[in-house]
Amino acid sequence: MRARDLVVESFLVGPLQMRCSVVCDRATGDTVVIDAGDKPERLIAWIDHADGTGPNWSSTESEHKAGDRQVVALLNTHAHFDHSGHVPTVRAHWGVDWWLHPDDAFLQSLAAEAAARWGFPPLPEPAIADHDLEHGQVLDVGSLRFDVIHTPGHTLGGVCLRLRVDGGADHLFAGDTLFAGSVGRTDLPHSGGDFDLLARSIHAGLWPLPEDTVVHPGHGPLTTIGHEKRTNPFVGEGAGEHGTFGRGRYA
Ligand SMILES: [Zn+2]
Ligand SMILES: [Zn+2]
Repeated sequence: MRARDLVVESFLVGPLQMRCSVVCDRATGDTVVIDAGDKPERLIAWIDHADGTGPNWSSTESEHKAGDRQVVALLNTHAHFDHSGHVPTVRAHWGVDWWLHPDDAFLQSLAAEAAARWGFPPLPEPAIADHDLEHGQVLDVGSLRFDVIHTPGHTLGGVCLRLRVDGGADHLFAGDTLFAGSVGRTDLPHSGGDFDLLARSIHAGLWPLPEDTVVHPGHGPLTTIGHEKRTNPFVGEGAGEHGTFGRGRYA
């Protein structure tokens, strides 16, 4: 897609302020929702009716009108419940397919149980993904094209999704693999977390990307690949083999 047609909106949802990214190609109206973890009514009101509170942040001035875009796919970076808990709700509403890496299928099956353990409001029965995300896959959904980069370490099936943009910087939807100044936690139950594996995933899969790639993490502010490569205290150039601190933050 062309840079001038790209709209990326961040909805920070739920008690953990998880970033749900809504990515739209204005030339076609094709829209992809990444990590529909919470507040499905807010997402639906905005995308379908240009109504409600809208996003916390948008890459463009909004000229969005009701009905001028259609959701063509749901994608997930990983299956912690704050990222995946309301996928069943929006999948039923929009009637589109959902993609997840198969190594997070077990984690996904525990989403409702995990939310209850954290004292969160009840979640719908967990969804089973319609399609697998695979490392190296080029995924065309409507007019949007993503490269799938498997980045295990925060969870076994964690992926980063790189949106290819003509005439502008690419965008990377990083889930809880990489944050501005941090990395994902590696101590969460049933997740297969492993700091050394996470660091290897980032070094091999993310650092080779162009430095101006805009990173949309699962929590916290946006950043770029170049900035994190130089300054990230866990996995950046200044960090030792096991990072400065040895483990990240955020669920
Ligand atoms: Zn998270
Ligand atoms: Zn997570």
